[in-house]
Amino acid sequence: MTSKRKTDKIINLISVFLFFISFLGIVYLTFDNKPKPGKNIDLGVRKTIVRKTVLTKVVPPSYFRIPILVYHYVEIVQNPKDTIRESLNTPPKVFENQLKTFINNGYQFVTLSDISDYLNGKKAIPKHVVALTFDDGYRDFYTYVFPILKKYHAKATAYIVPGFINKQNNLTSFQLQQIVDSGLVEIGDHTIDHTSLTSMSHNDAWYEIYQSKIELENTYNINIESFSYPYGSFNSSIINLVQQAGFKTAVSTRPGNIVDPKDRYYLFRIHPGYLSGDRLLSYIESNFITGKKLAKK
Ligand SMILES: [Zn+2]
Repeated sequence: MTSKRKTDKIINLISVFLFFISFLGIVYLTFDNKPKPGKNIDLGVRKTIVRKTVLTKVVPPSYFRIPILVYHYVEIVQNPKDTIRESLNTPPKVFENQLKTFINNGYQFVTLSDISDYLNGKKAIPKHVVALTFDDGYRDFYTYVFPILKKYHAKATAYIVPGFINKQNNLTSFQLQQIVDSGLVEIGDHTIDHTSLTSMSHNDAWYEIYQSKIELENTYNINIESFSYPYGSFNSSIINLVQQAGFKTAVSTRPGNIVDPKDRYYLFRIHPGYLSGDRLLSYIESNFITGKKLAKK
């Protein structure tokens, strides 16, 4: 073998070796960054890694689409002139149709604790999930919502205002106890008396956030892990208080359906109103302009 042929052969071998190494690298980057459901990983860290290595991925796997629906009234509005109540309402029949829509399309109902577990990588995220949340603890939750949840074995989260319990239009403590005992409904906190937290002193806000948690936990022998801001009103110092009080998540009234670990203290929610069937599905799966994107403008 001439020395030229020897050199050519060595160059060929090096080329094949380099090609093989590059191929391994591509395989590693392509497959290693797929989300590994159920594995206990820090999703925030994973997203940074993904952004650096796989630039072609459109949606980094560290955040996911989970529609969190927000309901207030589920009733037959008696006064047609009460437009505010009407706009916050979903009639019971429509609510039942919404549940049927989700069930027929393979959705699973999850609570805010489930979502917290997804965010922490403690649980695998099923393909289609939806969270039903109810604010204020109205009496109609017991009259209309609770029987429908039981009928379809659907889980939900109810944000309760301890100062409202036993008032005329709200749940009684007896009803709330039955709801807790059902195991279908997770209880969240919505402050002592439903006042805007950003318009009060630091100490008063702490009392509203923390005392209501303690009251609900002690009275009903439960753990409260999620918080809902009255009137959707919060700022960075209120978020700090919610975090210090031991909550794992908090929900806002900002419209959106992307759940991101960074947003765990102001998760987006969607008001489904009167929609059901395909219109409901396309609405909850659509791309919302989230508060996060607006903030960048
Ligand atoms: Zn409220």
